[in-house]
Amino acid sequence: MKKIISLALCLAATLSCACAAQADTRPSSSHEVFFAGSDYELNVYYVKGRQDGKTLLLIGGIQGDEPGGYLSADLYPDLVLEKGNLIVVPRANLKSIILGDRGPDGDMNRQFHDNAKVGPMYQVVGKLKELMSQADLFLHLHDGWGYHSPVYVDSLRNPNRYGQSLIADSANFTCDNGSVLPLQEMADSVLGEVNSRISNEQHHLHFFNTRTADPDTPYSEMRKTATYYALRKECLPAFGVEASKNLPSLEDKILYHNLVINAFMERLGIVAEAPRILIPTSGLHYTEVMVNGVPHMLKDKDTLTIRRNDEVQVVDIGTDYKRGVTMDLLGYGNLNDFKQSFRVGKDTQMVFRKEGQKFGSIDIKALSDEQYARYADKQKQEQHDHRQNVTRVFVVAVNDKHHVLLSGDTLKLAPADRLELISSFGDGSNDETVTLNFRGWVPETPSKMPNDDRGYLIEPDKSRLLRQYSEHGEGKRYAVVATDSRGNPVGEIWVQLSQ
Ligand SMILES: [Zn+2]
Repeated sequence: MKKIISLALCLAATLSCACAAQADTRPSSSHEVFFAGSDYELNVYYVKGRQDGKTLLLIGGIQGDEPGGYLSADLYPDLVLEKGNLIVVPRANLKSIILGDRGPDGDMNRQFHDNAKVGPMYQVVGKLKELMSQADLFLHLHDGWGYHSPVYVDSLRNPNRYGQSLIADSANFTCDNGSVLPLQEMADSVLGEVNSRISNEQHHLHFFNTRTADPDTPYSEMRKTATYYALRKECLPAFGVEASKNLPSLEDKILYHNLVINAFMERLGIVAEAPRILIPTSGLHYTEVMVNGVPHMLKDKDTLTIRRNDEVQVVDIGTDYKRGVTMDLLGYGNLNDFKQSFRVGKDTQMVFRKEGQKFGSIDIKALSDEQYARYADKQKQEQHDHRQNVTRVFVVAVNDKHHVLLSGDTLKLAPADRLELISSFGDGSNDETVTLNFRGWVPETPSKMPNDDRGYLIEPDKSRLLRQYSEHGEGKRYAVVATDSRGNPVGEIWVQLSQ
């Protein structure tokens, strides 16, 4: 565990996201989401071992056209560790991954310089820098062209190619505090282990020293990368891992990344627990039940109301862990009735179990035809009431100036004002055609749609207003009613005329 895990930093991380921060228990897996719902959404996974130990940071997907790296990283949040810790960012650059583009807003791996810029991509860079301060070693996972070779073989296999290499910015890096990181020695020992597991020698990985700090390096642009930032700012041993884009399959690319990660884990004393122990604690998220062939989605503790002798069949059980899961329809079938069909003639219950442990239940109410008809009517009425309660907005213009009102609001009009009804929409039924009717006002020329007064100029002082349509017949307040495509009124505003 790294010396500085500042409490302030943890607090800041918690505040900036609506999710669980790092768990304190061991062993544990937790997950944080930053910038949720944006193109640069950042998912960070923390795996803490049963015993504390060194922390390895894995970052993949900083360039979206390198799937070997991010799909390899994506396997590691599922580990349970006996010892040590992992911080995993499988998809550092979500936008570039969605687009399969190295850098739609520029190359994110050239933004780790000291001239911080603002913008969504740079927020991610800032977060990745914070994670570095919590790690003991950092692997940056990439896929590169060709095959790196210390000697020139051909255009695909030579010292300038990146694929199948373990990259360091220096053979030995001296930190500001004077400590020396023996990067080449670390790489050599890991590569010995990795290559011993790769039977095809053409696929062996080689050490690639970009000599990033040297004045004569051909790789001076590497000074803006994540690994170089980690070295100079955090004194954090950091390597680029490059699978070759020219490998025959995606599985090969993932496999070689895995081999390098596993060898570094071993070197750091980070040990995976095998098999992982799974004691699922979460309950029934949902279940899908067919009633006479029509699907119904239900949650734990819901009641399913059916007509007596309807055919009921549970076809899906939504839980975190599927194995050992059964459903028992009490009074029907056997202990395990999952996916079986039953005609249900009486009230009963579906009981969901994992092995012998009940984790959810749904009541079934079987109604007679008469009871069911009443139930269906009530449901219909409730749906209608719900539509009425949905917030509805009215857009009108008074003397060409737009006003927005909510259903129930009152608009005051002077005699010389000119009113135009423009539109109305609600959060429940945006797509429905709505007509707007000024009750008691009749246009001189009939409208295209009956009772629709949109598109007219309504002039209170010149118009004939039918007083009997006003509130209490007083001729002061008139309703403007919005009606949906089925003819149901869905909201109204009031127009109050001043004298
Ligand atoms: Zn890359």
